[in-house]
Amino acid sequence: MTPRLAISLQSPLKSMTCRQLSRSLRKVLHKSLSSAQSHVPFASTCFQILLSPMGKILGIVNQKGGVGKTTTAINLAACLALDGLKILLADCDPQANASSGLGVQRDDNRNSIYDVLMGDVPAAQVLLPTEIGNLTLLPGSKNLTGANIELANAEDRALRLRRALEPIQGQYDLVVLDCPPALDLLTLNSLAAADSLIVPMQAEYFALEGISELVSTLERVRAAFNPKLVIEGVLLTMYDDRTNLAQQVTQTLREFFKERLFQTVIPRNVRLAEAPSHGKPVALYDARSRGAEAYFELAAEFMERNKIPSARAEARRASAAALQKDGKTVKLWPYG
Ligand code: ATP
Ligand code: MG
Repeated sequence: MTPRLAISLQSPLKSMTCRQLSRSLRKVLHKSLSSAQSHVPFASTCFQILLSPMGKILGIVNQKGGVGKTTTAINLAACLALDGLKILLADCDPQANASSGLGVQRDDNRNSIYDVLMGDVPAAQVLLPTEIGNLTLLPGSKNLTGANIELANAEDRALRLRRALEPIQGQYDLVVLDCPPALDLLTLNSLAAADSLIVPMQAEYFALEGISELVSTLERVRAAFNPKLVIEGVLLTMYDDRTNLAQQVTQTLREFFKERLFQTVIPRNVRLAEAPSHGKPVALYDARSRGAEAYFELAAEFMERNKIPSARAEARRASAAALQKDGKTVKLWPYG
């Protein structure tokens, strides 16, 4: 049995010194990872698996709510599409935030991913265009809540999404799945369909609590349905580097996750929170904001990890080289 991640709640966080926090974080992470490492090949192994970028399926998953899954799904998908990749974003969450965040208003009469999972319509008939030519949406709907119950007794209940995507995934470089904040049948379908996962999390002590549960679920999914599933990376979101706590937590996380933690961190940025109410990814809402810049960096890091050439990264590299030639210091990750 996989050891559960146990965090002592006896000493409240606010009364902990940084040193105490660091010590207990190390203990918790060590326990979590030593159980995880034997079961789930993380990025170190996944780097060696050269998946063709054509038709790769990437799940954005964390059962913890409000950690930035949808913000990451929308904005990573948009930045990759703006860099020339053909992207399909599938909204697998009954909240349908990824759909509304891309300007698709709720319409109970329109077919959605729910109808696809129920086997009533092929996915190809449900796709919607977005403001970005290369980015297509497979919309979600609140009906998805019912799918958890309606599919409970279906024999192939965990494989519905994988089968639905099979006929269309080859038309895209990447299919991004925005998952709900639960380890339910909808998330299980995403885990069974995905090649790899990004786990967004905040640099907070309690964020670690869910990691062990997620890892043990991944282990079960790998054994039962999807042996190729790997964690592509852990992404720090809503990051505020002004606090000692965030820096301390991040340093400790980096020591343990090493290259599994994305170099790029997503800062807390009000433009990222505003963009969905305008139905736009931040790259279209305010391309010069820190939030947009961070998601472009994440897209560049993702492409580099997957050995996909990036036109935008090339352009940035060239302008950085030109500035350096003029004696200016340029710090660009990962090309600085
Ligand atoms: P859920 O688990 O409910 O699906 P989620 O993990 O998808 O939530 P989001 O919806 O992406 O999380 O984000 C939660 C809230 O935080 C949203 O209001 C979003 O606009 C805001 N938010 C996300 N990332 C940032 C950021 N980097 N800076 C500021 N606000 C952010
Ligand atoms: Mg969400």
